[in-house]
Amino acid sequence: MIRFPLSELLDEQECYDYLLRTLHPDGLCCKHGHPLPPDQAPHDRSRAPILDYRCRQCGNVFNLFTNTVWEGTHYSCRTIVLIMRGFVQGTPTLQLADELGLDYGTLLKRRHRIQQIGLDHQPTDSLPDDVTEADEMFQNAGEKGEKHDDPDDPPRCRANKRPGAGTMDNDRPPVLGVVGRTTGQIRLTVCDNTQQATIQPQVEKVTQTTTTLNTDESSAYNHVAATGRGHTTVCHSCHEYARDDDGDGFCEVHCNTMEGIWTGLRNFLRPFRGVHKKYLALYVAMFEWAHNLKRVTADFLRTLMVPSFTYLPT
Ligand SMILES: [Zn+2]
Repeated sequence: MIRFPLSELLDEQECYDYLLRTLHPDGLCCKHGHPLPPDQAPHDRSRAPILDYRCRQCGNVFNLFTNTVWEGTHYSCRTIVLIMRGFVQGTPTLQLADELGLDYGTLLKRRHRIQQIGLDHQPTDSLPDDVTEADEMFQNAGEKGEKHDDPDDPPRCRANKRPGAGTMDNDRPPVLGVVGRTTGQIRLTVCDNTQQATIQPQVEKVTQTTTTLNTDESSAYNHVAATGRGHTTVCHSCHEYARDDDGDGFCEVHCNTMEGIWTGLRNFLRPFRGVHKKYLALYVAMFEWAHNLKRVTADFLRTLMVPSFTYLPT
């Protein structure tokens, strides 16, 4: 892909107004929450359109970035808008750093901090769907960026050659996915392994007890029915990908919805050319947000940038 720097193409005032609406829908205030009176003049205009104000009640100086992850930043509003766009769209950090003229290491740290907030604020309520699917995907994820002493044993080769089920320890951490057939909403969790003790509590957390869960024949789901949930399985190893149990011509026993989501997740992760396994959950969380929201919202961006703001999706 040809490089196309675009940071000079966006209007700084428009980006300021956009961030103001997004970060402070109720208007600016100081770090103690004292609102800015409409008639108050700025204390410092030297970084316009970013204006500093001094609180009349407590004396603290504040601006657009007070109480946000961007507090103290020297970036322009334009740069911040483009960084956030890159983070939520899954633009690789190296490409973003190059296009915006930023330091890669600094930007990567920033990305991980913001994506961690995205992970911490993910919805944890259970899917309302009567019919759900659960499945696992194994993602090769080693220790990107860390030195390995043996050049004949790079982590990627180790991971790819490892037989059997992936685990966090063998650099193929499983991602558990649950999708609601009606809502299309997903809940993804990076797990240490695919044992029943790991998988089942998570499935219970994100589904209603009245749901019918579709899974493959993995033993992790063997005791789902004991929780009161319906449970139907399809046997992947014998090429039975869909089955018409009640003979009505529709193959309702399948995990095809989840298979399609795995394709989407693999495509999302691929441009990063390997994610360190300790950060994998942060990237998976961003994919989950994007899948569930479809289009970026002010509340989502505010969640990522204002740590004290809790977004409760309806
Ligand atoms: Zn104040």
